Amino acid sequence: MDWRALDDRILVKPGAEAGLMTRDPVSADLFPDKKAAEKRCAECAEAINVLQDRLWAERSRALLVVLQGIDTSGKDGAVRGVFNACGPLGVSVTSFGRPSEEDLAHDYLWRVHQAVPKRGMIGVFNRSHYEDVLVVKVRKLAPAEAIEARYEQINAFEKHLAENGVAILKFMLHISKDEQRQRLQERLEDPAKHWKFNPGDLEDRALWDEYQAAYDRMLTRCSTAHAPWRVVPADKKWRRNAIIGAIVHGTLEAMDPQYPKPDWDPKSFAIE
Ligand code: ADP
Repeated sequence: MDWRALDDRILVKPGAEAGLMTRDPVSADLFPDKKAAEKRCAECAEAINVLQDRLWAERSRALLVVLQGIDTSGKDGAVRGVFNACGPLGVSVTSFGRPSEEDLAHDYLWRVHQAVPKRGMIGVFNRSHYEDVLVVKVRKLAPAEAIEARYEQINAFEKHLAENGVAILKFMLHISKDEQRQRLQERLEDPAKHWKFNPGDLEDRALWDEYQAAYDRMLTRCSTAHAPWRVVPADKKWRRNAIIGAIVHGTLEAMDPQYPKPDWDPKSFAIE
């Protein structure tokens, strides 16, 4: 499937209701075949690496990829699957956990703005400023009116970035409640995955409906023309990676970064 057709299927149209509950976390028709999806993802990862090199050489724009999703939705796996061909020089990954004391002494966007990729870089956010309208809303960590005001603040912040050379791709990784149960179960059963298990994840799972409602609201309120949301069917890891890879690749290709033309003539030099 052409990446724009794929994109059209998963995009949250700005101004429309996101309708998260009606979106299928499987969506088998998007990439029906596992082998083909894995091949496409590997090709996209290679192409992203080549385009990243041009983005760095051009040094005038950046790409910010925001990954949001509940526990076990596969944010780490998506980073590994899509950016595994990129060298460490061109891609920075920032994970946003609980804010530190220093973070809390500032406004909630302070730590986020500092992590925005500089010109020439691809920056990936593993969780993001959206936690401030998700966990903070569900667990009532800030006054309701303050949280309500954040949707517009976030839209203004992202518009500012977009107008200053930062292209923004936002992916919500959408899994079913049953898939989360299986993934949490694996973390309990597989000693190599014990480290990933956090009893706090079960508290969040008990708040499943509240989180889904908060995600739905976030998607509806913050899908804008300059930074729309995409809801990625993520029950199958390989399909999730193929979709994200195709859209990151397509976006970079459309950005079409150019190697700068030297202001000297390469033929005028001779190396002894
Ligand atoms: P992950 O679960 O992504 O692998 P961690 O185990 O470090 O990583 O979990 C990060 C935790 O930090 C999550 O529970 C998330 O909800 C929480 N968190 C992130 N941002 C905020 C925030 N702004 N306020 C409160 N909690 C936050």
